[in-house]
Amino acid sequence: MKPVPFDLVVAKDVAGAVKALGEEGAKAVGGFQSLGPMLNLRLAQPRILIDVTRIPELRGIQRSDESVVYGACITHAEFEDGAVFDPTGGALARVASGIAYRAVRTRGTIGGSLAHGDPAADWPVALGALDARVRIAGERGVRQMPVASFMTGAFATALQPNEVVVAVEVPRPSPQARFGFWKFCRKVGELAEAICGVYCDPERGVHRIMIGAMEGRPVVLADVPEVFEDARALEAALADLDLGSDPVHRKLHLAAIKRAVADMRQVSGASA
Ligand SMILES: Cc1cc2nc3c(=O)[nH]c(=O)nc-3n(C[C@H](O)[C@H](O)[C@H](O)COP(=O)(O)OP(=O)(O)OC[C@H]3O[C@@H](n4cnc5c(N)ncnc54)[C@H](O)[C@@H]3O)c2cc1C
Repeated sequence: MKPVPFDLVVAKDVAGAVKALGEEGAKAVGGFQSLGPMLNLRLAQPRILIDVTRIPELRGIQRSDESVVYGACITHAEFEDGAVFDPTGGALARVASGIAYRAVRTRGTIGGSLAHGDPAADWPVALGALDARVRIAGERGVRQMPVASFMTGAFATALQPNEVVVAVEVPRPSPQARFGFWKFCRKVGELAEAICGVYCDPERGVHRIMIGAMEGRPVVLADVPEVFEDARALEAALADLDLGSDPVHRKLHLAAIKRAVADMRQVSGASA
């Protein structure tokens, strides 16, 4: 199948993109890696595509003492290659390198991944665990919110139709911070069947387990230090979880959580 005919507008700046998205049937396009297949299958039938990848603000990064702000159109490959500064000591590069295969990574963007809202995608889980925030521009200016609550359901986000994801802000981890990540997928190029990100930063008061590939949006399972300090507390927390009715998936989710926690204990995830 082929896409329905559409016009293409290349936005030069954020204000222009927001204005163009106000047109009926307009849709933003980033790396085209998720939207392309949806157009081909006619699951999406936009009248106008607004290409946001040429907006300089969406391609840059800003570093401060507290955080690093990544433009929404930075690609997975740029993280993987270390082309952008990574305050997490390699966690971002590691997550990016596990997304699909290289051809997808060279075009797919961090902002597009969040906006697409796939519950099994890597960035929503990893960035949600890392306590990152997403910046969104619309008619009323820029607002921001935690990545952990940006997704509202499977393929549903807090993004309004005429809003653009402009950036993702990743807090700088303290020296004691640790990150762990685990995902299970049967073949390279398939999305995860189970995926978990864990992050412990006592100085910032974050002790988070986040999982995806559930029926709904990725969720924060726990945000308390005990689950990281005491194996029995982790087991007790896991026993209470609603991980869906499918026994195979339940086991996969449990394995992903335990392996992500074990990964966190092995790998130090932070650098100044
Ligand atoms: C074969 C294959 C395997 C894949 N495997 C994985 C995987 O293992 N893990 C994983 O996480 N992902 C995977 N993906 C998805 C990939 O990571 C995409 O790059 C990502 O989901 C979307 O990014 P994009 O920039 O290509 O967005 P696009 O495809 O251009 O857009 C996706 C959606 O986001 C919206 N959008 C894009 N950018 C913005 C913006 N700045 N502001 C507002 N809305 C925006 C679009 O309107 C559209 O609704 C895979 C994709 C393919 C084709």
